[in-house]
Amino acid sequence: MLAPNAHRLYVLSSTAHYQQEIDENPDNELVELVTYVPDLVLDIRYATANNVLAEAIYDRPAAYLRRPVAAALREVQEELRKLGIGLQLFDAYRPYSATVRFYEKIGDETYAAPPWRGSRHNRGCSVDVALVELATGRTLPMPTDFDDLTPAAHTIYEPVTEEVRRNRATLLGAMTQHGFVNYSGEWWHFDHQQWADFTLLDLSFAQLAACQSGRLE
Ligand SMILES: [Zn+2]
Repeated sequence: MLAPNAHRLYVLSSTAHYQQEIDENPDNELVELVTYVPDLVLDIRYATANNVLAEAIYDRPAAYLRRPVAAALREVQEELRKLGIGLQLFDAYRPYSATVRFYEKIGDETYAAPPWRGSRHNRGCSVDVALVELATGRTLPMPTDFDDLTPAAHTIYEPVTEEVRRNRATLLGAMTQHGFVNYSGEWWHFDHQQWADFTLLDLSFAQLAACQSGRLE
């Protein structure tokens, strides 16, 4: 039986509970994106010191989403392919303890989910994405870098160049068409519309990798 944490939130943190969730409903599985979404470019900043906290938060550059959310992201990638572009992914599933760490450092609810609410990233339902040109791998210009905590990150921010406006609109259009909802404070952040169906998780990437290899045996 899952007990609430100090913030009265139910956060699933054991692999046994996670496995039970998957047995009850296969949609609960966190799918590893690097193999599931063809040509997805991973740029997992929280596994490096190149992020807003200037320290590595993750122990490895991993990216997972719940099964239907991963399927939606794959549809976005196929849609974008018609334009010769693809997704660059900064973050997907994020363990709850990482969210607690972010909030301790940033301390602003506009830019970091508070521990008493948790993030939709903790549910395996959110992604932080940008666009790349598939042929060259070149990152397409956007209004700001990822995690730029300024008003220029707001999705309707102006002025921007025509090229930037077009890229931002292409990303927003493709994601929206496949069931994602943008957070207006960050052009890169999207929640899948089914996020409320999924629990908050605090499983490390090492735990997830161990679960996956366990299932293959
Ligand atoms: Zn995000």
